[in-house]
Amino acid sequence: MNLNPTALIELAEKIEQLAQFQDKIEFPASISRIWEAFQRDARNLIEIESCALFTVDESSQEFVLAHAVPEALKAEFQKEIDAQIEVGTFSVILKRRRPAFTPSQVFRHELSVMMLPLATVKRTLGMVMVLTPFQESLVTQENMRLLSVLARHCSLVMENSILYDKLRKDKESLEQANAKILYLSQRDALTGCFNRGYMNAQLPREIRRALRYRRALSLALCDLDHFKTINDSHGHQCGDLVLKEFVESLNELIRADSDWLARYGGEEFLLVLPETTLENAERLAERLRAHIAGKSFEWQGEVLRITASFGVVGFSAGQLPKSLQAEALLNRADEYLYRAKKKGRNRVVSGPFAS
Ligand code: GH3
Ligand code: MG
Ligand code: MG
Repeated sequence: MNLNPTALIELAEKIEQLAQFQDKIEFPASISRIWEAFQRDARNLIEIESCALFTVDESSQEFVLAHAVPEALKAEFQKEIDAQIEVGTFSVILKRRRPAFTPSQVFRHELSVMMLPLATVKRTLGMVMVLTPFQESLVTQENMRLLSVLARHCSLVMENSILYDKLRKDKESLEQANAKILYLSQRDALTGCFNRGYMNAQLPREIRRALRYRRALSLALCDLDHFKTINDSHGHQCGDLVLKEFVESLNELIRADSDWLARYGGEEFLLVLPETTLENAERLAERLRAHIAGKSFEWQGEVLRITASFGVVGFSAGQLPKSLQAEALLNRADEYLYRAKKKGRNRVVSGPFAS
């Protein structure tokens, strides 16, 4: 290299500018942002008439056109890369991992095509194609080397951004999968309401909260009447449908933000009503009972009717027990439900929780 002092200073400045390539891009950067920064620095080294960026598509591993400047030349650049692949220059340049000039197969003859592979030691990221009025012989060795350094910097930033993006996407899909697992682990597969496991964990919490903040709490245990006959007369699938529609109806009538419904057993459900006095719980249960009794279930053209019995228990803020096990509250609800069945079904029996 034979440089005079001014040229040396200029070269040093160019090198310094290239070294700052990564600092100029805010991380994580999009491909278009990196591409812009690349062009800005590349234009300091070589006259660019137009250029294009091809990136490697992750699934197909094909080079696809990501950007063309100007955009109107998209089709030409695509033709150019296809032709370069066809004649074999593309793979040679890619393998050498250094910028190189090649005669254009598509563009005007007074323009040269320069290709800059974008690659790190780990992988190939893409290829930049530059159309320049310069001939290879007019571009200095230094500028070619500087372009090569620029391509390497650009490749590193690109790889980091791609990795970051992938990690972010992986994290997102992991979070989505976790949320789905959590949802499914708390739900009854047939009806979609909460399952027994959720109820076992959540009910003691509801009770603790009610006692601590001196709030009312009520439970309604609800069992479908003569449900076995539905299965016996119309089949298990019909029974399943009735259970699903029954839960849908209940869910439509309860407060979505605080009340919750769990499948306690086969055709038995527990309705938990935080901040609800026994009187209000009783009223709600009566409304649910009447709604179910008046509802028609359709199965294979036949209209079916079903009723449900309710056992409601609750305590108010004024008469809070000192401590309370979920089981004791459930047992009391179960007693009232049993009484409702004994009295002839399709009814609500309720009472306060007295320990
Ligand atoms: P009662 O009024 O006394 O509650 O009578 P019942 O027939 O509703 O009560 P029983 O306990 O005799 O029968 C409950 C039936 O519910 C029997 C069982 O096969 C059915 N069952 C439980 N879980 C499911 C389910 O997931 N799908 C269907 N189709 N049936 C179910
Ligand atoms: Mg039943
Ligand atoms: Mg039952």
